[in-house]
Amino acid sequence: MNDSTFTASENLVDFHCHVDLYPDPPALIAECESHRIYTLAVTTTPKAWKQNLEWTKGSNFVRPALGLHPQLIAERAKELDDFERLLPTAKYVGEVGLDRSSSYSSSFDKQLEVFNHILNRCAAFGDKVLSLHSLRAATPVLDAMEQHLPPNRGQVVLHWFTGSKAEARRAVALGCYFSINAQMLNSTRTEIISMLPLDRLLTESDGPFTNHMGRPSRPSDMLSLARQLALARGVSVEQITSSVCENCEFLFDRQKNR
Ligand code: MN
Repeated sequence: MNDSTFTASENLVDFHCHVDLYPDPPALIAECESHRIYTLAVTTTPKAWKQNLEWTKGSNFVRPALGLHPQLIAERAKELDDFERLLPTAKYVGEVGLDRSSSYSSSFDKQLEVFNHILNRCAAFGDKVLSLHSLRAATPVLDAMEQHLPPNRGQVVLHWFTGSKAEARRAVALGCYFSINAQMLNSTRTEIISMLPLDRLLTESDGPFTNHMGRPSRPSDMLSLARQLALARGVSVEQITSSVCENCEFLFDRQKNR
């Protein structure tokens, strides 16, 4: 990547990246730092928190998020205690949420119990920013938010949203942001991406679980994603990068008013 592509006011954003699942996380963090890519380092278990916190300590661009992935709830629901103990030390929460796809639907009731509890705890703090998984579960995720996380008690980003237009409208009305990845743009659901307000859009790699040019996606692929997103929205790439950057700066610095 060419550093001259970036200016101080237009940093790239990767709002959902599993930094700790790459072969060399410190090198990836250094890459985000040198390319000035705001990156949310999501995790899947509270056991990963301490290490992620250490790796990101000196970073200006990479923030760690405390997670308990819905796909792991069948085996790891008891880690909710660890999650709760660590929550006071975490500003960002993710990856958490619900997954009702066929492989995970058997743990759905347990997932819901854990997720409701997490939302209640986050609401009690009032200033958390959450990256939510909602595969085949957009409506239950929005229902749970409505019941347990009032809009003024936390900020939600729906990661890899695959819901319907009606669910997207409801999520927008509830104040949600959306982190968009390249797979979403390659799918047939681009009409949903077109209806989301620019001031709620973020970009994400969801690496290393997604691919870019035949290898695992990286935060540095976010410029190429911004270009694709600009095409899909019919606006300039500058418009996309500046609104995505502004949206991220708002979420990364909650004292700014909006
Ligand atoms: Mn993920």
